[in-house]
Amino acid sequence: MNSLEPTGAELRALGEAVVDFVASFDDQLAERPAVYPGEIDERLLDDLRLVDDPTGLGELLPTIGRATDSGIESAGPRHFGYIPAGGLPTSALGQLIALAVNRYTAVADLTPGMVALEESVLRWLCDEFDLPRGAGGLLTAGGSGATLSAVVAARDALLGGDIASGTIYVSEHTHLCVAKSAHVAGLPPSAVRTVPVDDDLRIDPAALDRMLREDRAQGLRPFMIVGNAGTTDTGAVDPLEALSDLARREGAWFHVDGAYGGAFQLTARGCERLRGVTQADSIVLDPHKGLFMPYGVGALLVRDASVLSAAHRHDAPYLQDIDQLSGLPDYSDRGIELTRDPRGLRMWLPLRLHGVQAFRDALDEKLDLAELAYERLAADPRIDIPWRPPLSTLALRLKAGDDATRALFDEIRAEGRILLTSTSIRDRFHIRICVLAHRTHEAHVTEAVERILAG
Ligand SMILES: *Cc1c(COP(=O)(O)O)cnc(C)c1O
Repeated sequence: MNSLEPTGAELRALGEAVVDFVASFDDQLAERPAVYPGEIDERLLDDLRLVDDPTGLGELLPTIGRATDSGIESAGPRHFGYIPAGGLPTSALGQLIALAVNRYTAVADLTPGMVALEESVLRWLCDEFDLPRGAGGLLTAGGSGATLSAVVAARDALLGGDIASGTIYVSEHTHLCVAKSAHVAGLPPSAVRTVPVDDDLRIDPAALDRMLREDRAQGLRPFMIVGNAGTTDTGAVDPLEALSDLARREGAWFHVDGAYGGAFQLTARGCERLRGVTQADSIVLDPHKGLFMPYGVGALLVRDASVLSAAHRHDAPYLQDIDQLSGLPDYSDRGIELTRDPRGLRMWLPLRLHGVQAFRDALDEKLDLAELAYERLAADPRIDIPWRPPLSTLALRLKAGDDATRALFDEIRAEGRILLTSTSIRDRFHIRICVLAHRTHEAHVTEAVERILAG
């Protein structure tokens, strides 16, 4: 097809073939391996090369299939590694529409309807976190970009032009994206201060209190306290209420990293366990984790959206025709992107199609499944599993030691049926199980548990 403008009939035929490819993929997911074998072969590299002549879709789809079936099966039900996502195929259908109509959502007046649609997603998220009127945010490419904009907003609001003495408080379990954001935002490495944690790997508020006082006495300016709503390693939730109180006393910005665990706010147990999150000045979520969306959508919610805009708004003469008639936000004023992926529809469509309750139920199921895994593993005298899962992540080791734990991990990984990842906590090797994919159900968790117990 050498025309860049296929006819409607041609598009329908292409679309049908693509949807068929996707549906077949989905049908096979339950039985696909969790880790694909081997290296990329030369023939695939050859077939991927770009050429001047057109190639038929019938020939390209199998090549795409070979490219996807490599590495890990990140959409499958036996993906318990890192932070699983899954990727709702109905979100991909929303994205198909969004990309095909190609609306410009950086500036509200250029497509107010699509910005209103994206705002309805953000408004809903703000409501779930009980944020007041005036709160707002932005859908980003992921949690890291959302965190950067939160750090920049806090920096500008609280440090002004003099950033050299500003300090941010994290724990050793805080995600690397906070230190990376601080670096990109121009803060020196010493600005990121690591607060000790308690036995449950949660920030110790008394230790933070002491650090804040000492740092102030040294002439430092604490401007941001970061609480975890679920660490990546174990799902530990910092004492968010206590951190919020300390932030208020210090006049500092209280940021909550909910990239992994924030979505559990949709459940009654989650609200209980994340108590204090509603006091945050900013919250980062990753819909491409906890809301089962395909990769490429994070969210930043800010208590006072005008602070976010103040930090990101820049004007230029080539944007002078923009009028702001709609009363909707210009997302270009809220983050680092101007032209952007229109991320609203890929969330809005599945949320409306399935209904929000389906998401609450799925997240509740993940909490139950993690609990189930914990009960069964903790009952085995050979296993050391120090932390009851605060959310849906467990870390465990064999009492026989690091070498034995690593050997078991390597064996399971090599089998390729179940995907687990490992981490190091307090210098000890731990196997992690994170239950978060929407396709993961009791049979999958039982299979993983039984495989571990089989030794
Ligand atoms: C995944 C994750 C991030 C980073 O988000 P990306 O979407 O990967 O950029 C930040 N914090 C936590 C706790 C995470 O799990």
